Amino acid sequence: MSPRGWAVLTLAGLAVALVVAGALLIPWSRPPAPRADQLAALRSLPVDQVTRGRAFHAALRPGGYGALAVGLAVALLLGLTPLGSRLVELAGRPFGGHWTARAVLGGLAVVLLADLLTLPFAAWRQTVLTRYGLSTQGWGGWAVDLLKSYAVSAIIGGLALLGFYAVVRVAPRWWWAFGAAGAAGLVVLLSFVLPVLVEPVFNRFTPMEQGPLRSELMTLATRDGVPVRDVLVADASRRTKAVNAYVSGLGPTRRVVVYDTLLREATPAEVTSVVAHELGHAKDRDVWVGTLTGALGAAAAVVALYLIGSWAPLLRLAGVDSVAEPRAFPLLIALVTVVGLVAAPVQALVSRRVEARADAHALALTGDPATFEAMQRRLAGVNLADPDPPRWEYLWSASHPSTVERIAAARAYARESGR
Ligand SMILES: [Zn+2]
Repeated sequence: MSPRGWAVLTLAGLAVALVVAGALLIPWSRPPAPRADQLAALRSLPVDQVTRGRAFHAALRPGGYGALAVGLAVALLLGLTPLGSRLVELAGRPFGGHWTARAVLGGLAVVLLADLLTLPFAAWRQTVLTRYGLSTQGWGGWAVDLLKSYAVSAIIGGLALLGFYAVVRVAPRWWWAFGAAGAAGLVVLLSFVLPVLVEPVFNRFTPMEQGPLRSELMTLATRDGVPVRDVLVADASRRTKAVNAYVSGLGPTRRVVVYDTLLREATPAEVTSVVAHELGHAKDRDVWVGTLTGALGAAAAVVALYLIGSWAPLLRLAGVDSVAEPRAFPLLIALVTVVGLVAAPVQALVSRRVEARADAHALALTGDPATFEAMQRRLAGVNLADPDPPRWEYLWSASHPSTVERIAAARAYARESGR
């Protein structure tokens, strides 16, 4: 069988694996609370809080969709015309057009150009965050964060580009197989490495100070049967007033992180409720599931790019001979961008179901729906959430159930458990 035949077979296998993993590991049987209950929850929220959250999101919207449109236009313009391949050539020219220069500098130039063209939208977003008092950062801090994120992307992206195009040279007929394995491996590696190497670039993490709250949280984790080495506090207040918590990392790098803003704003019982939600992610191995599906998806994407990339009309548009040459990188970016847009609602749906399960875990673990509801109100108020966002926006991009869904779920729990 030809490499192409094997690629079709591999892609089919990966697609089946993704569907099976999705069917078995995603908690699909957890539909949102009835709409009537959500509306009752909405009516119970302070009117000025709802108005302010909606105004904030309305102010963010034009910039958000502007960035999306410009990003897509740039990706298509560079990928589906010879402009992108010329940019890659140009970046490699000072080094005699050597393949490593084209691969790394050319690839980074394409990504950087797209970043720079959407930069005005990012700056506009920052002005909105400042106007609404959510950002605590001046332009200096904002710029430093931006440069740090460029540097991190350049290091990880540069290594990935170098590795990928080296494989293409060593195995010109089978690069897609090594590339798929490499992409999957990279996803797994980043899950281990990001919390240790990248998160500290942006925030300082300190173990939560000894005291009744810390003891309470460690006891909660033990009672839950989730071994947590530590609860870390991130100095998020240097950047934002928003409150949050999250769990990241795998195995030895797994950690529960709470924002210092959360400790400042919320009552200890509410912090416990938030951490109980994060313990749910740990208990259900959500980071593992995300890493596994991410790795399968990345592998499938490489094989699919190989197959789509041999389509002659596409190569003619991009002005390249093969999808495997560095000059075709902008074409790959264009395809990935389009697939990313199509996949966004699916990813959002999966994320919402996983988050709803963590909410249910928090309710069952604490047995305290009243505090859960108070915490949701506080979260929405401080973070200027739209408690009941427009339907299309929710379906397109909401990674968490809406505030009114979460409150309705807490009330349903209270009714069923008689609390
Ligand atoms: Zn969560």
